[in-house]
Amino acid sequence: MENTDLLRAKSSHAEFWQHAHQYFDRVYQTMNLDPIWREVLASPKRVLAVSCPVKMDDGKIQVFTGYRAQHNNARGPFKGGIRFDVSVNRDEVMALAMLQTWKNALVDLPFGGAKGGVVCDPKKLSFGEKERLTRRYTSEILPIIGPAHDIPAPDAGTDAQVMSWVLDTYSMMVGHQELGVVTGKPVHLGGSVGREEATGRGVMYVLRAFLATQHKPLENTRIAIQGFGNVGFHAAQLLDEMGATIIGITERKSGIFDENGIDVAAAGLYYRERGDLVDYPHGDAITNEELLTCDCDILIPAAMESTVTAEVAPHIKARIVVEAANGPTTPDADEILRDNGVTVLPDILANAGGVTVSYFEWVQGLQNFFWSAEEVNNELQKIMDRAFAAVNAKADEADCDYRTAAYTIAISRVAEACRLKGLFP
Ligand code: NAD
Repeated sequence: MENTDLLRAKSSHAEFWQHAHQYFDRVYQTMNLDPIWREVLASPKRVLAVSCPVKMDDGKIQVFTGYRAQHNNARGPFKGGIRFDVSVNRDEVMALAMLQTWKNALVDLPFGGAKGGVVCDPKKLSFGEKERLTRRYTSEILPIIGPAHDIPAPDAGTDAQVMSWVLDTYSMMVGHQELGVVTGKPVHLGGSVGREEATGRGVMYVLRAFLATQHKPLENTRIAIQGFGNVGFHAAQLLDEMGATIIGITERKSGIFDENGIDVAAAGLYYRERGDLVDYPHGDAITNEELLTCDCDILIPAAMESTVTAEVAPHIKARIVVEAANGPTTPDADEILRDNGVTVLPDILANAGGVTVSYFEWVQGLQNFFWSAEEVNNELQKIMDRAFAAVNAKADEADCDYRTAAYTIAISRVAEACRLKGLFP
């Protein structure tokens, strides 16, 4: 990342924590809840910052900073991903942990919200360096994670391989294999079938359920997707299979546009081999800014937070924005989209498919009893459809947008769990 990009990222991530608060406060204030829980819910229960010295391949030692933020566990153990990215910081993991609390409550999983991350560029680490960093980070946060305490999972920059190292490090420390300590593991190591594509699949289910309320099919809709990692790629592939036309895709550095439809499998192969879409031989090159404002029916931000800003929002032509990433829309951009009549399917609903199948994986690991792909996908669809129906009904009843409806449901569930438990001591 260029220095200017890094500076921009740092300031935007400090703002991201404020954005998470703004979204929460805007809804909480309208809910007639006891003000005491506002303060409890507005801050994380615990944030651990750790320093991870790692021996690099050249023999030198590099010290990486890592975090684990645990927001609220009134409804169950903390749960949330681990991100490896240069822009990770304390504010960012606190905001993501808070979003995770609302998401887990909205889809009614028995979890609280957490998030972790390490400040690093995973693309610049060798396989061995990444393994040593993951193991050291895991051992540093070990006192606060565990199958009954806090269960990490993959997020941007991490994958099933990284989760294998988390599993193994934790298991070595406690003296036995503990499948329930982490989700998003490879299938041959206690992972769940369907977890890898679960977030993208959930995006597809939520979008399809929304379109059904408009009596519109997915077929022939023109979709642009920002971010071509785990979430963006699988969302693109599944939507393409359902008959939608993926006309634009970008990643951090570059992107492609093809009015006739991108061959998602071929672009995915190219991206996995090269790590970017630069010089992709089909379609036209497109920048991230051009993708966000391109002429399409549906825009899916699936990259990082705060990419849909107040500068971009007035120029967005899509009538539907599906937040596959966490926190892609800033609050001021959200207002502009609302005023312009754009429907936003919010992150805590749209990307909840990943944590839902993580929940299935946790249950399978605790029971050592594994489900078929059909069972996983059927149960996922039930949960996503149920969550969408609840949000849709709340939006109708309160005559509000989907984000307000989703937050209202999620906050009321968490606040109720806090109230029922009372305060300790
Ligand atoms: P990933 O690391 O696999 O992919 C991220 C993609 O976004 C890459 O293609 C990258 O090049 C691109 N990108 C990064 N910064 C960008 C920028 N500024 N502009 C444009 N593109 C950019 O990550 P992922 O797992 O796909 O996660 C993507 C988003 O979805 C994150 O917000 C993450 O928190 C959220 N999310 C992920 C999961 C999951 O299961 N992995 C679940 C829920 C939510």
